[in-house]
Amino acid sequence: MSDYMSKVLAFDGQVKATALIATRAVGTAQVKHDTWSAATAAMGRTMIGTQLLASSLKGSDRLVVQVNGDGLGGKIVAEANGAGQMRGYITNPHVSLPLNENGKLDVRQVVGTNGSLTVIKDLGMKEPFAGQVPLVDGELGVDFTYYLAVSEQINGAVGVSVLVNPDESVRAAGGFMIQLMPGATEETISEIEHRINQIPLVSSLIDQQENAEDILIRLLGEENIKFLEKMPLEFHCDCSRERFSAGLISLGEEELEEMIHEDQPAEIVCHFCNEKYSFSVEELTALKAEITNK
Ligand SMILES: [Zn+2]
Repeated sequence: MSDYMSKVLAFDGQVKATALIATRAVGTAQVKHDTWSAATAAMGRTMIGTQLLASSLKGSDRLVVQVNGDGLGGKIVAEANGAGQMRGYITNPHVSLPLNENGKLDVRQVVGTNGSLTVIKDLGMKEPFAGQVPLVDGELGVDFTYYLAVSEQINGAVGVSVLVNPDESVRAAGGFMIQLMPGATEETISEIEHRINQIPLVSSLIDQQENAEDILIRLLGEENIKFLEKMPLEFHCDCSRERFSAGLISLGEEELEEMIHEDQPAEIVCHFCNEKYSFSVEELTALKAEITNK
């Protein structure tokens, strides 16, 4: 199944919901970063949650989530935009742990339970929006839900889920986000709560070939849903030589002079996709001259 996102309104506009399949996008990130199972799950859940939060954005508007916890994985960063493109990385990709007491990948140990979840929205305006909440759970679904409630005053639920094969490849990945609108009734809320409590793990549903619409129907009831929109999703990193050249220039003359003095090519690795960019001493000298001649 290709990666995509499906958005709905439900209960006559009392509820907005999104479900997505991201098996390929998380799978691509797993290969690029050579992550091991527990790290894959933590990075993948962060990417899925980020794309869910970005589901209301338009086009090139982008959203970055930084998970800074005290777990074994170190900092996790993901970015997604309104065009369905996402990327992400984890500081320590080689974390593999015994399954937790529920028989699942132990994401909490990778993320940690002390720290913060920060969301930065770049909507093309001067000041990006930023919101931060403490980590409250470490499994990430509850943490994203808590962020929505506290930072955006939206009650709802976020579910994020990744299944990994024994050979470390990603078997299934996906998630959902339910947002209650201000007029949502007690009756609606209790029906959704009841349904959320019964739904199996989203990644296992995807593994059984259920699509995003099937998952939304399980969460909200077919008779209550109005399907709105579908959008393809993909892993995409927009890093480039030009961008890293600009980054080197922004280091300033002194820093560049030091690099030139070392008389070796500078190698820069993109955090998000592991692509390597090498700048020769001649190129570094030319970049320094650009600053000098400004
Ligand atoms: Zn890149």
